[in-house]
Amino acid sequence: MKKAIILAIGNELVEGLIVDTNSRYLAQRLKEFGYYIVRTETLPDNFDIMVLRIKEAIKDADLIITSGGLGPTEDDLTREAVAHSIGRKLLKNEAIAQELINRAIKYYGKAPESVVKQAFVIENAEVIDNKVGTAPGQMLKYDGKIIILLPGPPVELIPMFESILEKLKTNDSLYTRRIKTIGIPEAVLMDEYKDILYSNSRITIATMASYERGVEVRFTGPIEIKDEIDYVVNTLLPKLGESVYALDDKEMHDVVYELLVKNNYTVSFAESCTGGLISSTFVDIPGVSSVFKGSVVAYSNEAKIEILGVSKETIEKFGAVSEECVIEMAQGAKKIFNSNFSVAVSGIAGPSGGSEKKPVGTVCIAVCSPNGINSATYNLRGDRQMIRKRSTLIAFDMLRRGIIKCQG
Ligand code: AMP
Ligand code: MG
Repeated sequence: MKKAIILAIGNELVEGLIVDTNSRYLAQRLKEFGYYIVRTETLPDNFDIMVLRIKEAIKDADLIITSGGLGPTEDDLTREAVAHSIGRKLLKNEAIAQELINRAIKYYGKAPESVVKQAFVIENAEVIDNKVGTAPGQMLKYDGKIIILLPGPPVELIPMFESILEKLKTNDSLYTRRIKTIGIPEAVLMDEYKDILYSNSRITIATMASYERGVEVRFTGPIEIKDEIDYVVNTLLPKLGESVYALDDKEMHDVVYELLVKNNYTVSFAESCTGGLISSTFVDIPGVSSVFKGSVVAYSNEAKIEILGVSKETIEKFGAVSEECVIEMAQGAKKIFNSNFSVAVSGIAGPSGGSEKKPVGTVCIAVCSPNGINSATYNLRGDRQMIRKRSTLIAFDMLRRGIIKCQG
């Protein structure tokens, strides 16, 4: 198996000011492409330390990827450190220099001398185009090894890395499938279906349970047993039924969106404790305007009464966190936005506001559909954020099941 080492460079990482998400992403992708990750390191913007660790990495791995330190400022030294470590020169690439100058003039009216620093390329290195930011990446061969330099910002690093992945393919590439479920506890799922799950010893099974995403089962194996992996997944799917909300890269809200599009339905939301999180999550999807009509964040009782038309008596009698209230909220949103479906959520996200009868984590959700109304009360655990995120997942899940019912 080919070996890889990731070096994430930047004082901000070492000092814990930002989280090193690049290493996580790179390690996961490299693993899928058949690399063994020897180690990942975070290094400060210090030339001597970088040289030391780069030389060590070249000894221990076939592929070395650096992230960060390619900017125009004094502290960005990755180019210099890699060039020094392998005894190669840095050469100015005139075309890149001119492009950087033009770009700086366009955005700032002038080009500080430092921008040209980013136009220096290590001898015999291939330039990796950066379509998002300014610092180009570099890829080179040295002593039978591959060294890749990528900029720090994830929005730049990810597309650049994806653009060169083909070149890094090995014979050990892995194939992964993911089944995402909600409503079946992890232990039950693993126990009940163990005969199918473990029917093929070449397939590695992993589960990940999270409050925000439910239980995910991952099937991984060498690319040549792709069909066998698909077979196991396809055998399991009908057994799990509606508990499966999505496959592979899809998220819950993507699936809801696709179901709405497929059936030509629209939706609106009325949110209390989620405070817009449901709408915000949904709007992450480009093109959602074809199915999403709008939402009301009705946090106060007055807003629920005056905007959504919840009756004062309902709130007085049952409280704002009640199925009676969310049903009226959903009916109100459906009417305001003239949508086919509507979803309303009201709950106690905490840390205060709970009572004996309705403790923190009590969340009521209602879905109005062309077929009628469905509502439920949940007792969620966790802190405020967890409760809000879990409520969002469940709200989308109730909507998903509602749409499936309507399509027959
Ligand atoms: P640089 O390429 O060193 O100029 O990095 C620029 C910015 O990218 C940093 O200020 C961070 O916000 C971000 N960044 C750098 N390294 C990482 C990393 N390993 N993970 C996530 N973000 C990073
Ligand atoms: Mg930096």
